[in-house]
Amino acid sequence: MVKYFSTRGGGSPASASEAVLKGLAEDGGLFFPDHIPALTKSLKQFADMSYQEVAYEVMQPFLSDYTEEELKNCIKNAYDDKFDTEAIAPLAYADGAYYLELFHGATIAFKDMALSILPHLMITAAKKNHIQNDIVILTATSGDTGKAALAGFADVEGTKIIVFYPKSGVSPIQEKQMITQKGDNTFVVGIHGNFDDAQNGVKKIFGDKEFEKLMADNGYQFSSANSINVGRLVPQIVYYVYAYAQLLKEGKIAEGEPINVVVPTGNFGNILAACFAKNMGLPIAKLICASNENKVLFDFLRTGTYDRNRDFVLTSSPSMDILISSNLERLIYLIAGEDAERNRNLMMQLSTSGKYEISTEMQEKLQDFYGEYATETETAQTIASLYDKCGYVIDPHTAVASCVYQKYKKQTGDETKTVIASTASPYKFTRSVITAIEKDGGEADDFALADRLSSLSGVKIPEAVESIRKAPVLHETICEKEEMADVVKKYLGI
Ligand SMILES: *Cc1c(COP(=O)(O)O)cnc(C)c1O
Repeated sequence: MVKYFSTRGGGSPASASEAVLKGLAEDGGLFFPDHIPALTKSLKQFADMSYQEVAYEVMQPFLSDYTEEELKNCIKNAYDDKFDTEAIAPLAYADGAYYLELFHGATIAFKDMALSILPHLMITAAKKNHIQNDIVILTATSGDTGKAALAGFADVEGTKIIVFYPKSGVSPIQEKQMITQKGDNTFVVGIHGNFDDAQNGVKKIFGDKEFEKLMADNGYQFSSANSINVGRLVPQIVYYVYAYAQLLKEGKIAEGEPINVVVPTGNFGNILAACFAKNMGLPIAKLICASNENKVLFDFLRTGTYDRNRDFVLTSSPSMDILISSNLERLIYLIAGEDAERNRNLMMQLSTSGKYEISTEMQEKLQDFYGEYATETETAQTIASLYDKCGYVIDPHTAVASCVYQKYKKQTGDETKTVIASTASPYKFTRSVITAIEKDGGEADDFALADRLSSLSGVKIPEAVESIRKAPVLHETICEKEEMADVVKKYLGI
């Protein structure tokens, strides 16, 4: 049975299902398994499996207190026809690399890969741990996560989800996606304020003991769906194993042949999952970490110093506009030899001075990683040149990764076959994409741009975009940031 310990050494060890329910350890650290299990099947065996079968084999050793039936049910409910392809995460070859398309789920971005299964892992965990309360998910969002969480939790029995977003701080398509969300248990609220206001309001409610008591008295408890949850990390390991298996099946690689992986990175969750896949025994050579102009991770991998004291840059890849990559803590813990004391010291320095420096010995354990970044101009050029060469259209996040891969090849001469994590559909960022390709987005609205993109790429407009065109608005609540707690009470009738 795998046990989870806090990366900061405090609190009590948790089973997998307890870690999924709690999200964060009691001392503010992240849950880390007592060991990283090895792959349970040979690569050849994986090559003959469906996505769902790979998902079971990869996740089971991490979620060892779930029964076979429970886990298989979660997988069946998550990876179904919400995805627009049976492959779930198909590979597309373009200009010398394999693009692993992680955007075929309900909200056409990679967050769907984990957020479509997390609600099921959570309610199963609640049942296993004899929790009678309904689970209330409270989320602040700058756009992507909110919609993916809404779609994941909608109509999942025993849960409610309340999402706060900055009324003037998300794109028109993102807002429309959220306020048209169906499901009796979903609530969406715009606030007068920015993302930080929404985030702080949510944190305040989470930390309010009186509120917690009021909730419990009425049969509710909070949980969090954010990217540090074990229930989001583990499902993300699956598609790296699946991608390798597909390449093997199609004869693109030999069994055991190493591949490189390039990941457009923000919170460090996706690339950490690739690192876990490697530690399970998947033949991955380099883990290439791609940043946009918020290049904290590039600097860290180069110098060994993590320093968030810098200006925040708004880019065309907003899901990577992050200065504190919260999942990096798990890697720090790993390269510190799973020494919680050492990790805790570094994290304390981060919270007091905004920076920390790792030892040369720790730095040596980062040899598998390679960091690079792409500027805004390079990102747009990458979208245009890939389209010109192959007719393949990618979104700005994926373009950051693609650009970084070109730089990596130039700098190292490494010709190892490479998988690039493609994290969003170009239809999610039509304006940036059309502007990059045609050098002029013009005055057209976002839906007209979607039509334009469809005729350029020959790819049908995804249902996720098409369906919100005419969908009725179902959520119209707007509130002041001071009113967030009252709104929650009202929705829960407490
Ligand atoms: C969240 C997100 C990322 C960053 O992933 P992390 O796991 O936070 O590193 C990259 N691209 C897109 C489109 C995303 O939504």
